Amino acid sequence: MNIVIFGPPGAGKGTQSSLIVKKFNLHQVSTGQLLRDEINNNTELGKKISSIINLGNLVSDEVVGNLIEKFASNKIYKNKLIFDGYPRNLVQAKNLDFILSKYDQKIHIALKLTVSLETIKKRISERKFLEKREDDSEEIAIKRFETYETNIKPIIDFYKASDLLKEVNGEASITQISDEISGLISGKKG
Ligand code: AMP
Repeated sequence: MNIVIFGPPGAGKGTQSSLIVKKFNLHQVSTGQLLRDEINNNTELGKKISSIINLGNLVSDEVVGNLIEKFASNKIYKNKLIFDGYPRNLVQAKNLDFILSKYDQKIHIALKLTVSLETIKKRISERKFLEKREDDSEEIAIKRFETYETNIKPIIDFYKASDLLKEVNGEASITQISDEISGLISGKKG
């Protein structure tokens, strides 16, 4: 099964994806992490995108589309992908379906983690010390939250229309959230 998981910055997408990966033997595609790897490895792409990411803006749909196609086209990962942080807008959601269909695949479940801005500010201020991400200042985190809020509605409608959307309370504990998500995935599989 292929899964998308989305939610505002600090919603726990990365943490929950890692847990799902272990439990269901999937492969995590985190566009944020892939982009940070490009920056840390000082690649040509990394040089182009570092200021965009550090300011809390979105990288172009084409750049992230190319990144995810590498995984969608790889037979090893066929029907084993969890997209963490992708799609970020309606164009990307449609593009994901298009790319997957080229490789005879589709999305089976879309998980939305819902978290308040207050919780996000708290989590991001804690994460700042652990991960040292440049885009984790409070000011940029709020901007990333606003970008998310602006773009999310059409994505929700898109996945609702195909009956794939499952909303999860991202305020609960890591274990509670993980149990809820596992139940939803198992339900889809069964
Ligand atoms: P994340 O780790 O998912 O919070 O992403 C960190 C940053 O990477 C975002 O604020 C964006 O600048 C960029 N990014 C990650 N995923 C995407 C995406 N699907 N489309 C555009 N930009 C993205």
